[in-house]
Amino acid sequence: MSSDTSGINPRFSKKTLHRPDPDTLIKGILKGDITVLSRGITFIESSKEEDQAGKHRIIQALLPYTGQSLRIGITGIPGAGKSTLIEALGLELISQGHKVAVLAVDPSSQLSKGSILGDKTRMEQLSRHPNAYIRPTPSAGTMGGVARHTREAMLLCEAAGFDIILIETVGVGQSETAVHSMTDLFLLLAIPGTGDELQGIKRGIMEMADIIFINKADINPEKVRQTQKQLENALHFFPLHASEQPVQVLTGSAIQKPTVAELCQSILKYAQAIRNSGYFESQRKEQSVWWFKETLDQEILKRFYQQNKNNQMVDHLRQQVSEGKLDPFQAADQVMKAWK
Ligand code: GDP
Repeated sequence: MSSDTSGINPRFSKKTLHRPDPDTLIKGILKGDITVLSRGITFIESSKEEDQAGKHRIIQALLPYTGQSLRIGITGIPGAGKSTLIEALGLELISQGHKVAVLAVDPSSQLSKGSILGDKTRMEQLSRHPNAYIRPTPSAGTMGGVARHTREAMLLCEAAGFDIILIETVGVGQSETAVHSMTDLFLLLAIPGTGDELQGIKRGIMEMADIIFINKADINPEKVRQTQKQLENALHFFPLHASEQPVQVLTGSAIQKPTVAELCQSILKYAQAIRNSGYFESQRKEQSVWWFKETLDQEILKRFYQQNKNNQMVDHLRQQVSEGKLDPFQAADQVMKAWK
């Protein structure tokens, strides 16, 4: 992507994009040096073969210094107020002594070439704060690749001393599963509307939410209360989360400090509850295994298609299947039998 990201964070500079030395990066990140952190994240996003060993070295070396943060996923349709809320929530958390990193997973940016965090006017105050770090969404690759880079960027931010990681995504499907599988708490930002529309938010996303925040209560408090009731009713039909914590439906406004402070408190209380119950730890373990399996699946697929790039048998079978001459399952079976 060629978009200029230098305005996102004053310390994120394109001048720093020459190939760095892994040891220098490791040391700088552990010191909490933001410029080095940016260079490190750019480095781990590299798909160049010659960078892979260095990437693994960096992540392996930093791993013992990761995992201590609270990882929060934030989703909502465009216009719901995500960036406004992230800025307000970030500043609130910083005022309580936290260090906040903001990352993003945005599959739509692959198409539009514009990142959700690419707009320089977003989160201006937060981006200038010395205890905040804002990083735009990784720009290249498949959804799986982008999500993986975000997860790795999160580890680097943790090693650099950030104890709250906010990961933003657009509430349209796909990326939510990936973000859900790397966060401790999933926050859905909704806006007042009719319950049955559920504001374009897919049911699967509703099911993932640990906290739902109905935003823009300052505009029409009555409508917000109605939406709250409708959402609470809808949630009765959803199974209890594995965390065994009931889903909270809160109302408020991203532009009103007291409601942001209340939301902040609910988030920290939820985090404390799952730490106490042991769910925090068990979910982290499950997530690591999920990433292991996900990565392995992707690598196997990649290898299969690389090895079978010019495989005439596969081409022939594909043709047979498309013409309805062969059952797709039988065709797949034949390929598997032939693949060593
Ligand atoms: P995003 O696309 O989800 O990141 O949404 P934005 O944060 O960019 O917000 C979209 C618009 O809604 C902007 O004009 C915000 O100023 C406005 N907005 C966000 N939160 C609130 C709120 O609580 N009350 C009001 N009145 N406006 C809000």
